[in-house]
Amino acid sequence: LIVLENVNKWFGPLHVLQDVDLSVARGEVVVVIGPSGSGKSTLCRAINRLEPIDSGTITFDGRLLPAEGRPLAQLRSEVGMVFQSFNLFAHKTILQNVMLGPVKVRKEKAATARDRAMSLLERVGIASQADKFPAQLSGGQQQRVAIARALAMQPKALLFDEPTSALDPEMVGEVLDVMTSLAKEGMTMVVVTHEMGFARHAANRVVFMADGQLIEQAPPAEFFANPKSDRAKDFLSKIL
Ligand code: ATP
Ligand code: MG
Repeated sequence: LIVLENVNKWFGPLHVLQDVDLSVARGEVVVVIGPSGSGKSTLCRAINRLEPIDSGTITFDGRLLPAEGRPLAQLRSEVGMVFQSFNLFAHKTILQNVMLGPVKVRKEKAATARDRAMSLLERVGIASQADKFPAQLSGGQQQRVAIARALAMQPKALLFDEPTSALDPEMVGEVLDVMTSLAKEGMTMVVVTHEMGFARHAANRVVFMADGQLIEQAPPAEFFANPKSDRAKDFLSKIL
């Protein structure tokens, strides 16, 4: 579904993505881990073209990533993204936040969008908060709204960039539970996270990145039991 071939990106002199090859199959859950500054966020942002790349190709669902205009908007609606900072619209209610994309971008009827928004809020366990504003919710609740909002666009894949890093520890679990159930239901997901429990239990594949390179990738059981590179061994010894 997502194929990166020989992708390179520089920020000035910094070679932040170096000959990156990665393919993510439909229904696959890929967890990306690695030290700070290794290029994980840049990789995620490149996939829905929040960051342009300097060379190489990225295709999504068989199409080369469009550079601009309507095709780019279409791509963005097919690849949802959930960030560390929930990025909800502060002056809109929870329900309005979830309905907005479908109505504005997908031109859905308000009633249709509302029904689906409510069922998505139900699914992330937050329907009773529909008429509140983001600031009235906990961080964990806001992040679950952000996931519902991404799902409302009926994406073919979801990208998560450290979705639980800004949360108080007691709220991490409720967000990971939602993500785990999405994974089980077959959603294609690329997840940058430091939550190794999630990587072990929900990922099909772990990708380890350092200094802009994909150093190794393997199923989680294999990766955690037997990391091959010194970089990965060193990283795991610091976080586990
Ligand atoms: P973290 O775990 O801290 O989130 P990361 O793996 O997500 O790190 P990136 O955010 O992708 O890393 O950044 C990779 C490198 O690119 C870092 O050295 C960062 O300082 C640099 N970088 C990121 N964004 C920009 C930018 N817009 N301009 C210049 N340099 C940038
Ligand atoms: Mg990052």
